[in-house]
Parts: sequence; C-alpha cells; structure tokens
Amino acid sequence: MLCHSCYAEPALVATCAACDGTGRATRMPLCASPWDEVVPGLWQGGHDVRSQSAKACVVDDEFDLVVSLATRRGYGPRDGVEHVVARLADAGVDALTAERLDGLAATVAAAVAAGRTVLVRCSGGLNRSGLVVALALVRTGHDVDDALALVRAARGPWALTNPGFVTHLRSLA
Ligand SMILES: [Zn+2]
Repeated sequence: MLCHSCYAEPALVATCAACDGTGRATRMPLCASPWDEVVPGLWQGGHDVRSQSAKACVVDDEFDLVVSLATRRGYGPRDGVEHVVARLADAGVDALTAERLDGLAATVAAAVAAGRTVLVRCSGGLNRSGLVVALALVRTGHDVDDALALVRAARGPWALTNPGFVTHLRSLA
C-alpha cells in the first residue's frame, strides 16, 4: 500500500516522515464510520469498522442502489433495494477489469445523476469502493486529482492507497 501521507509522490516522498521516504504504508487502520458521503448522493463504505461492531455495516434501506464489490451474508441491503454485486480483487487493474470498472462507474454515475442515493462498498471501504467512486466522479466531470481528494476527504487518508488503483486512475487523466 502507498504511504497515506505522501502517496509516493516523487516531489514529497524523499522527505516524508510518515514513511521514512519509502512511499509505502505498513498499517491501514479501519474507518470509524461504516460509510461516508463523498459528494451529494454518493456514499462509500465497507463491511468493517474500527469498532468491530457486527451491526454497524449492515445496510437496510438507507440507499436506493447498493454496489457491493465484496459481500458478506447478513449485511443487506433489505429485499427490494437494488443491489449490484460485482466482486473485485484488491489487486492491479487489467484490461478486462478496467472494462468492468467502467461499466460499474457508469451505473453509479447515472444513478447519482438521476437523484438516487448510492452506496459503493467493499470490505474496508477504502480501496475497491474508492476506485469505483473515483471513476464515477471522473465520469461526472471531476478531474482525477479532484476525485482522489474527494474520496480521501470522505474516507480518510488511507483511502485509495492501492498503487495499482491509483495508477489506473492517473492513466485516465
Ligand atoms: Zn510517505
């Protein structure tokens, strides 16, 4: 994982105290909240929170659309809520994955544009969900740096620290 302070940016990494200039993270704490709103109507979250509460991340009918990049039995959403399940590995992005991601981002962007509330979730609510949310933001006109910043502002500095995901996002700029 990338350092949460310098993100291995060439201009910052050499003098970064958080990672001693390595650009890499050795820990990635869970978020305190199960989900956070990144831009109006678009939420990002996961199945695990810092409190380890078994119920905190169970989705009921808070959202009109839930996109799950990882699933766990008993975590909702309630029957009747639109639920897109698209399992995604927390790994690099190959061409086929890029195509799937593009489709997911289109679905998310269209729903938000239609005024629906959308939750994109994975396990920790940091990387896989962050990637799909960022791609949806790029689709709706944000530039890549802006999308990265919005996701990290909502979910904290450890969001989007998978270097393959950041590389994929940057390749769109
Ligand atoms: Zn650093």
